[in-house]
Formats: sequence, structure tokens, C-alpha cells
Amino acid sequence: MFWNKKKCIANVMEGRCCNCRRCVRICRHGVLETCEVSGRMTTFVNRPERCTGCGKCRAVCPEKAIELIEKYG
Ligand code: SF4
Ligand code: SF4
Repeated sequence: MFWNKKKCIANVMEGRCCNCRRCVRICRHGVLETCEVSGRMTTFVNRPERCTGCGKCRAVCPEKAIELIEKYG
């Protein structure tokens, strides 16, 4: 599937994510983070400004929990 690298950004769909951290490890820009939030492990986009929309995180996600959404601004 084609997507415009400059206009998209990764988004983690929390309900599907099993916190395996594959996306965190593959991202070369340190965009994603897994840590405990309110007593629950959570993987999220911590540095959205660094995301290039390359889609590597989405490709490795076993739960299909990452989508590329339109970047705002
Ligand atoms: S690869 Fe997918 S399931 Fe694993 S932590 Fe990332 S978003 Fe969650
Ligand atoms: S789309 Fe690319 S740059 Fe953005 S979080 Fe995923 S792997 Fe990192």
C-alpha cells in the first residue's frame, strides 16, 4: 500500500496492542515508547515530531495495532 511519507504519522491503537515492543525496537527515530501509565503497560507515540511515516513499525506489528494517520499542521 502506498502512503505519503511526509503527511502521515504512526498511531498506536491501544486496544489491540500487546506491548511486544517490536515497533519500539525497529523505529530508528525513537518515536515509540513502552512504559507504565497509571499502573498499566502502554505503547504510544512519544515523539510524534520525529516520525517520518515510514511505516516500518506498522509492518512488524503482529497485532495490526499501528495505523498511519494524517499529520496535523
Ligand atoms: S508492535 Fe504492535 S503490538 Fe507490539 S508493541 Fe508495537 S503496537 Fe503494540
Ligand atoms: S512510521 Fe517509521 S518513523 Fe514513524 S514511528 Fe513508525 S517506524 Fe518510527
